[in-house]
Amino acid sequence: MTHWDEDKRARPLVGQYIETLKPYVPGKPIEELRRERGIQGEILKLASNENPLGPSPLALEAARAALLEGHLYPDGAAFVLRNRLSEYLGVDMARIVSGNGSNELLELIVRTFATSADHAIVSEHSFIVYRIILKSMNVPFTVVPAAADMGHDLVAMARAARSNTRLVFVANPNNQTGTYNGRAELEAMLSILAERPDPPLVVMDEAYFEFADAEDYPDSSRYQGLYPRIVALRTFSKCYGMASFRVGYAVATEEVAGYLHRVRAPFNTNRIGQLAAAAALDDEDFLRRTLELNRVERARVSAALSDMGLEVVPTQANFVLCRTPLLASDLYDKLLDRGIIVRPLDGYALDHHVRISFGTPPQNNRLIEALREVLSP
Ligand SMILES: *Cc1c(COP(=O)(O)O)cnc(C)c1O
Repeated sequence: MTHWDEDKRARPLVGQYIETLKPYVPGKPIEELRRERGIQGEILKLASNENPLGPSPLALEAARAALLEGHLYPDGAAFVLRNRLSEYLGVDMARIVSGNGSNELLELIVRTFATSADHAIVSEHSFIVYRIILKSMNVPFTVVPAAADMGHDLVAMARAARSNTRLVFVANPNNQTGTYNGRAELEAMLSILAERPDPPLVVMDEAYFEFADAEDYPDSSRYQGLYPRIVALRTFSKCYGMASFRVGYAVATEEVAGYLHRVRAPFNTNRIGQLAAAAALDDEDFLRRTLELNRVERARVSAALSDMGLEVVPTQANFVLCRTPLLASDLYDKLLDRGIIVRPLDGYALDHHVRISFGTPPQNNRLIEALREVLSP
């Protein structure tokens, strides 16, 4: 082996777009907080919008059975899951693509439909993963300023389209704000984009779809007739309590789904996740309990936070964004001392905002108590 002289290399190991990439910062894991601060009691994680009821019991039962076949490769076509989804959604199976979480589908979409010669559009205060993926593939993008409610300004996003715009990302309801865009707004955006010679693919990230109960909330899996280049992304991570199983899916036209199937890895979703997710769709009781809990606690926690003087952004999801008089990093730190993990957004130019997931009633009571202590003068 000869001497390795890095200075002699003509070309850096990675492109500038990788060199400057900042990794996604997930919610702090419970184990990490325990190690770092030696906290003894129960740690409450309200930072990643997970289901406080745990996984669907029917999903768990199916997962246990699937473990016994862990030596076999999964069904690459995920037939059981896609067939069950097809029945559940009332759309042809050929229009459904399953992914290793909807996160993988986001990546697959960028890889399939865009290159560094193209352009994408995202909104301010939306899911940061879109930008990380675009940047990792060197696809240029525009960040369109948020609307007055901090959510997406869909018409402004449509107007930001250029001749080479291939992708528009919309989170609905939006993470990090909990805001949503209604049918009229979505249709206004689509009619502007439909005028373009090459309409971009509109990616509707509906990770919180099931939690949204606004009367005019649009189901984007029904819009392909109006605007064929629209994709709905859903996940089992949030309302079905299956974040670790890593299963999400896309609903698109057969054409769009067909391209995604060509590009995806042969075994992109695992057997345990596929079968557990298919079973979760039958667990109507679990879904009903999850949504009822969230509906009640969303109203109660939002009101309690407002009463404390926090500015609360109205939410359609299972979390709430609020503005605090303290710096987000200070509030976060003081709650960590009390064994509670929330999500500070100071890394995203929101120095005074934190995002808090809703837990069970006792968990939320603990959060409210701790906030009262921390915010009292
Ligand atoms: C949680 C979340 C996802 C992805 O979740 P997966 O676990 O990868 O399915 C996607 N988009 C948004 C906006 C989310 O909040």
